[in-house]
Amino acid sequence: MKRQITVLSVIIMLFTLLPFAALEAEARNPSAQAFDNRIIKQIDVDNIYDHVYHLSENIGPRVYGTEAELETVEYLADQFESYGYTDVEIQPFPARNTTAYNVVATKYPNNRNMDSGQILIVGAHHDTVPGSPGANDDASGTGVMLELARVMANAPTDTEIRFVAFGAEEIGLVGSRYYANNMTQDEVDRTVGMFQLDMVGSRDAGDLIMFTVDGQQNTVTDLAASAGARVSQNEIPPFSMLGRSDHVPFYERGIPAALFIHTPLEPWYHTPEDTIDKISIEKLEDVARIVGAAVYHAARPDTPALERSQVAPQPVDYYYEDPNL
Ligand SMILES: [Zn+2]
Repeated sequence: MKRQITVLSVIIMLFTLLPFAALEAEARNPSAQAFDNRIIKQIDVDNIYDHVYHLSENIGPRVYGTEAELETVEYLADQFESYGYTDVEIQPFPARNTTAYNVVATKYPNNRNMDSGQILIVGAHHDTVPGSPGANDDASGTGVMLELARVMANAPTDTEIRFVAFGAEEIGLVGSRYYANNMTQDEVDRTVGMFQLDMVGSRDAGDLIMFTVDGQQNTVTDLAASAGARVSQNEIPPFSMLGRSDHVPFYERGIPAALFIHTPLEPWYHTPEDTIDKISIEKLEDVARIVGAAVYHAARPDTPALERSQVAPQPVDYYYEDPNL
């Protein structure tokens, strides 16, 4: 009897440990790690912090249609150009009774023989509500997006990556809707994932969650969960269901999309207290590593096209968590 119990408990233990063993196997896989390191070792969180500081402290509230928006847009375009991007577009669009702007930098595949034909989008929003410096909402996401654009500028890729800072998010996703609605059907068909970074640096918010509009896992959450298992010190981010950010218009066009955000939200959300002193360097860095590794996994040249990839993201267990805002 005792022996049987022992055998049984060993079996139970084996089954309990299996997922961890799988994770460890992938974490130890030297080629996976080398590819991740190509990106994450270059991420300098001081750069992200400097962007958050400049946007929230030097510029301050960045309401659509204001001088502050123009200053922001100019800063973003200057940053992209300083990383070597030659295709940087300032895209005007109508927003209520005025004009607002998206800023788009495109990284093309390194050569024509190495083009999967696929597109990835990494987004954040550069505007704020009136009166809020928006250090976390969403200078944090904008700063991470800029740093990922910098580290990927010269990385070998076979996939087009578009880095987009959306305007007028706070009045109803106006910039992202304009952008998504102006994509041709061919562009939509070729877009395999949209990563939206919105509120990813508050020390007073909860853990990282990936929200999809329909509450289902998709390519983006799979890539990021797998990347989280490889490169994050924290739990693999769970997924849940929520709209409310710039991933929505892409979902509506049939593109796999997810919002990356820490929840529950901090008490400073949409207030004048959303300031730089409440920003966590560790959180900024963790999100940059996860999303950077996920995007590069899909964009690097040994993954010719995601669906027939020989090195598909290692499936990992990640769970649905009820939205807690
Ligand atoms: Zn936001």
